[in-house]
Amino acid sequence: MTLRLHDTATRTVRDFLPLTPGKAGLYLCGATVQAPPHIGHIRSGVSFDILVRWLKVSGLEVTFCRNVTDIDDKILRTADAEGSPWWAVAERNQRAFTRAYDVLGCLPPDVEPRATGHVPEMIALIRRLIDSGHGYAAGGNVYFDVSSYDRYGALSGQRPEHMRAADDIEGESAKRDPRDFALWKGHKPGDPYWDTPWGPGRPGWHLECSAMATKYLGPTFDIHGGGLDLVFPHHENEVAQSRAAGDGFARYWLHNGLVNLGGEKMSKSLGNSLLVDAMVTEVRPVELRYYLGQAHYRSGIEYSPEALAEAAAAYRRIEGFVVRASEAAGTGTGTGRAGGTGGTGGMGGTGLPLASSLPAAFVAALDDDLAVPQALAVVHEVVTEGNTALAAGDQAGADKQAESVRAMLGVLGLDPLAAPWATAGDSGLSEVVEALVRVALDQRQAARARKDYRAADAIRDQLHAAGIVVEDTPAGPRWELAR
Ligand SMILES: [Zn+2]
Repeated sequence: MTLRLHDTATRTVRDFLPLTPGKAGLYLCGATVQAPPHIGHIRSGVSFDILVRWLKVSGLEVTFCRNVTDIDDKILRTADAEGSPWWAVAERNQRAFTRAYDVLGCLPPDVEPRATGHVPEMIALIRRLIDSGHGYAAGGNVYFDVSSYDRYGALSGQRPEHMRAADDIEGESAKRDPRDFALWKGHKPGDPYWDTPWGPGRPGWHLECSAMATKYLGPTFDIHGGGLDLVFPHHENEVAQSRAAGDGFARYWLHNGLVNLGGEKMSKSLGNSLLVDAMVTEVRPVELRYYLGQAHYRSGIEYSPEALAEAAAAYRRIEGFVVRASEAAGTGTGTGRAGGTGGTGGMGGTGLPLASSLPAAFVAALDDDLAVPQALAVVHEVVTEGNTALAAGDQAGADKQAESVRAMLGVLGLDPLAAPWATAGDSGLSEVVEALVRVALDQRQAARARKDYRAADAIRDQLHAAGIVVEDTPAGPRWELAR
């Protein structure tokens, strides 16, 4: 079976056949950096991270480009409101996005172009559109002539007569058709600007992505991704201007569902408590990733603390098996979170598992338009089998199941014993912590041996106060960090 993906442009799930065999180019609309990310923003990052991983595991050489929109009306408004330079607002929030992608274990893109670094490419694209009769300058702005492109509306499935007016410039009157959108916005006093043959100004949002996608991936490339809320007008406008200019542009359009709160799309005001920076102090980042990644990428997620807690519990069940199996095999370090990164075999050179090490049902699920819920059902089945093997003392069976579970989790970015979740790479600190806890546990055992239970309990309580939970098992005490 080959990989099949849902293409918004055709509204069908179709075989993914890369433009160049063995390679895949992916452009993902990244952040407009006017505020730090909430989980609604970062869901897109997690969904497409799973796609990137799956393309790589499938043997493709992936070029992943995710842009940063660092000049925009909203950034200028934020800068105005707080009295900061616009570039300081953009820089600060770009760092917050990078932190959020990193903390949730998203692989970094191969290139992360910023809009303000690509004005020459945008000017060249505007030139091509004007020369070919698809763009015109008016009132200091440059517009795309929607009526000049007869496929306008095809991506979002709208008839031109039903489309709303483009409202990207306030108080404008110069454009020929209300649906025409700005390629370039004329300079307003106080705003940043760049010089162009059509006068000073700043880029339109849609133009940026067309210019950057084709610069890094070529005039025709494989996949363009983004949130469902970007289909119209953003992606409709991107594809119109790029194809009108003569580029093939994206061959597949993938869109992730949104995270809703109380039935509404999560907005800045609604989502403040759900900023990624805040949430990862409440739940472990790996559990938040599991929560955001577990649904099918095209489904909406209705956020609730209960659903998040359920997802966290489901992940802990999987993690618990992997850790216990590794401890029983003597390959772990005796802790859940400070586990080693010992390979399980079957890992590819990218740190990702080889497809051949994965259960066929798991491969089939991901090949079917990244059906993560079905893939996770396979993970949970193998965990159940593995727990049965552990309970029966069947170490060989448990090892085999643990290896399989870790390989599957690797595809989803969730292997608890691999980077970034395993902390073995933290300059050896985890080994130091392990040794210190062992000293305390040995003293506790000694206190119990001499029947000094008060002293033994005091040690346990002190460990607990330090955030360490001790569990007595037939094989002796084991510990983990409190969750
Ligand atoms: Zn975009």
